Amino acid sequence: RTVYVNGQYLPEGDAKVSIFDRAFLMADGVYEVTSVLDGKLIDFDGHLARLERSLSELDIQKPDCFDDLLEIHRELVRVNGITDGMVYLQVTRGAAEDRDFVFPDPEEVKPTVVLFTQSKPGLADSPASKKGIKVISIEDIRWGRRDIKTVQLLYPSMGKMMAKKAGADDAWMIEDGHVTEGTSNNAYIVKGDTIITRQLSNDILHGITRAAVLRFAREAQMKVEERHFTIDEAKDADEAFVTSASTFVMPVVQVDEAVLGDGTPGPVSKRLREIYLEESRKAAI
Ligand code: PLP
Repeated sequence: RTVYVNGQYLPEGDAKVSIFDRAFLMADGVYEVTSVLDGKLIDFDGHLARLERSLSELDIQKPDCFDDLLEIHRELVRVNGITDGMVYLQVTRGAAEDRDFVFPDPEEVKPTVVLFTQSKPGLADSPASKKGIKVISIEDIRWGRRDIKTVQLLYPSMGKMMAKKAGADDAWMIEDGHVTEGTSNNAYIVKGDTIITRQLSNDILHGITRAAVLRFAREAQMKVEERHFTIDEAKDADEAFVTSASTFVMPVVQVDEAVLGDGTPGPVSKRLREIYLEESRKAAI
């Protein structure tokens, strides 16, 4: 596989990043994941805009290659022959001379930029999307700036492990009795014909897929409420689903012990998944 590191396309085995890189030492970096369907990028502009915001919130310099990122994504998709899969992009504050909590002088360090692809044949019709997934609820003990897409992913990883041990597929995180989001996705419930998802704030990541799905839902005259909801409401919902760049709209059929509806993906989730895939394929670049 060919990867991109700081201006160079290299075989993955030749790619190197310093051990002093602040993302390695302090999780001082941000990332984006963009899906590829039929060799084209889904919602690239949204991901680029969020990257710019994450960098600016953390005072990380925009890398020199920022304006070439579309071209770099496309080139990696091309050389690696990706039909369905994803492109991972990470930008870190860079490698300072020594380990120090204080940010290095931006004159002295350049951000590190790494991109690689992952091929996922059949990404848009995974068995999980047909069966739906089971989620457990866990406490949300992450930091207070979840709107910034940092590489600080230890607790989400632990959450996925807790889910796995419990025989589930993923975890929804709970703060003050309310669902914030999934470990790597935004969370939704459906009551009657209303789609409910938490309002945007620093408590959740502002999902690029979320923005698109809510837009498509409104265009299709579906009712949307952006408000927080409790885990009890979720257990009592008619349907539930999650959204992310790599899973699109993924039906949820069980929350803790509560089976939703008849335990199969509900009509609203299925319809939204279809609309999302159709519309985002049309807009892919
Ligand atoms: N919430 C969290 C915590 C995430 O990690 C992600 C994606 O990785 C999302 C939500 C979904 O965001 P997007 O739709 O932009 O992939």
